[in-house]
Amino acid sequence: MSEFLFPPFQTPGIPVKGEAALYPVNRIFCVGRNYAAHAAEMGNEVDREAPFYFTKAPAAFAPSGTKTPYPPGTTNFHHEMELALAIGRPVFRATRDEAMAAIYGYACALDMTRRDLQISEREKKRPWDLGKDVEKSAIIAEITPAGSFGSIADQAIRLTVNGETRQDASLEEMIWKADEIISHLSGFYHLAPGDLILTGTPAGVGPVTAGDHIEGHIDGLAPVELTLTEPE
Ligand code: MN
Repeated sequence: MSEFLFPPFQTPGIPVKGEAALYPVNRIFCVGRNYAAHAAEMGNEVDREAPFYFTKAPAAFAPSGTKTPYPPGTTNFHHEMELALAIGRPVFRATRDEAMAAIYGYACALDMTRRDLQISEREKKRPWDLGKDVEKSAIIAEITPAGSFGSIADQAIRLTVNGETRQDASLEEMIWKADEIISHLSGFYHLAPGDLILTGTPAGVGPVTAGDHIEGHIDGLAPVELTLTEPE
């Protein structure tokens, strides 16, 4: 048994509906531009060639209900409401059927974004880390096991800020479907339990500010909530 010089990072856990044990958070993959209307509002065309990804460190995870200061280094912090997939078995080069079978459950998630930095990085052809891998920017709510959610169809996906609707769409608008994403991503990674995939946001993203209360809903799932307090 090795000893560590410093306390090692502790794996965060996500509550699961009907289970006492938590789902462990390992990697957090995020899909870009997976709803045509959001790609358009960001000034991009939809690319049907292949999905693309960025990642957030497990340290970027925070549970639903988190209250956290407006982050440093941005004046344009945006909300993005997303469906999260939680992987429940090892998959590598999965077929679409194997990909579906690998989904342990689903959750409401927020991909909070320093939009000003994401865009300036993008324009300079630099990686998006400062824009996307923000501390406490991957807010993931309670996971509902796949069997009790059923299939992804035309469930509503919505987000409100201080009770006012900002995003209102349907999961059927997703360009890359859950099984296609997992099948594609598993060509590059040995996906395993603990890996989470945020599947992209519909149109209506926009800025939030200190004091705002953000709430996201998907039919059939527990809502995700975040409150921003004054900057540190
Ligand atoms: Mn996103």
